[in-house]
Amino acid sequence: MPIHLLPVALANQIAAGEVIERPASVVKELVENSLDAGADQITVEVEQGGRRRIRIRDNGTGIDKAELPLALSRHATSKISCLADLEAIMSMGFRGEALASIASVSRLRLTSKPANQSEAWEAWVEGRDMQAQLAPASHPDGTTVDVQDLFFNTPARRKFLRTDKTEFGHIDEVVRRIALGRFDIRLNLSHNQKLIRSYPAATGKEQSLNRLTKVCGAAFTDHAIYLEQQAGPVRLHGWIAPAAHCRHQGDVQYFYVNGRMMRDRLLAHAIRQAYADELSDERSPTFVLYLELPPTDVDVNVHPAKHEVRFHQARQIHDFVLQSLRPVLAGAARAEPVPAAH
Ligand code: ADP
Ligand code: MG
Repeated sequence: MPIHLLPVALANQIAAGEVIERPASVVKELVENSLDAGADQITVEVEQGGRRRIRIRDNGTGIDKAELPLALSRHATSKISCLADLEAIMSMGFRGEALASIASVSRLRLTSKPANQSEAWEAWVEGRDMQAQLAPASHPDGTTVDVQDLFFNTPARRKFLRTDKTEFGHIDEVVRRIALGRFDIRLNLSHNQKLIRSYPAATGKEQSLNRLTKVCGAAFTDHAIYLEQQAGPVRLHGWIAPAAHCRHQGDVQYFYVNGRMMRDRLLAHAIRQAYADELSDERSPTFVLYLELPPTDVDVNVHPAKHEVRFHQARQIHDFVLQSLRPVLAGAARAEPVPAAH
C-alpha cells in the first residue's frame, strides 16, 4: 500500500482509542471542559450506563457559532498557543482532542450559546472528513454536549463494555472525583432519568464537610484529621485518616495535584511511609489530599488521559508530603493505638 493520509474520521478514532476507553472517560473529558469554561453548575445525565446516552450541560462561557466547527476538530483548543503555555498549564484540557475523538466514535451534538450571542447553535460532524454541520437551536447561556450510542461504529471497543451497572459505577466515581476536586461547583448526576447524586455548591467549612461526607462517608469525615502545610510555593492540605480508622480496602484515596486527580506511585509511597509501622498490611491509607505547586514545576503532558504527572523535583515533593503527614499520623497513633485488624 502506498503511503497516504488517513481519513480524518479514522485518525480521530485512533486518537479516541487512547483516551476514550468507556463511558466514564467521556464524562471525565466533558466535565473537565465545563470546568475550563468557568461553569459553576454542571449536570450529567446518562442512560443505560452511558452507552445509550451521556449528556452534559453547563452554564459556562459557551462557544461562538463561528468556533463550533473548530471545537469539533482535532488539535484545536482555546487553552494553549505555545510551548510556554503548555509548560505552565492551569486548565484541565490542552490537547484539543476530546471532542473530536468522542465525535468520531459516537453520535455527538454540541449545542452552545455564549452570553453575548443572541441565539444558540448546534453542531455535529459527518462523514470521513468529519465536516461540521450547523443548525440554529434553543439553549440558555452555556453548553450541552449530547453523546449518543458510544462506540456504535467501533465494535471492538463496544465489546469491552461491561454491564450498565458497572459502567455507571465508573461514571459515579468520575463524578465523585470532580466533586472532591471542586467544592464550589454544583454537580448533579442522573441515571435513566433518576437523580442519583446531587452535590450543591459548598462554601465554608460546614458545607465542605457535608460534601466530604456525601462522597467519602461519615466514617471518614468523623475521624479524618485536617492538615495544612506550606513550604515556599508548595502547599499540601486536606484530610487523612489515622491508621486506626483506615479501611481494609482503599476506597477513599484521592490525591489532587493542582486540581487534577492523580494516581502517582511517588505520592502513594510517601503517604504509605508516613503511616510508618502503624498500618498493617490489611489496611490501606485513607485520604483526600490536595497538593498545589507552581505549574512550571510539574509536567502534566505525560499521558493522554492525564492520570500521571512528572514532578521536576520529585525527591523534594516526596519528602515534603512525607514530612507533612508523618507528625500528624504519629500524634494520632499516640492518642489512639491501632486495634488489631480482624
Ligand atoms: P481541550 O479541552 O484540550 O481544549 P477539547 O476537544 O476537549 O479540547 O475541546 C476543544 C475546545 O472546545 C476547547 O478548547 C474549548 O474552547 C471548547 N469547549 C469544549 N467544551 C466546552 C464547553 N463545555 N464550554 C465552552 N467551550 C468548550
Ligand atoms: Mg477538553
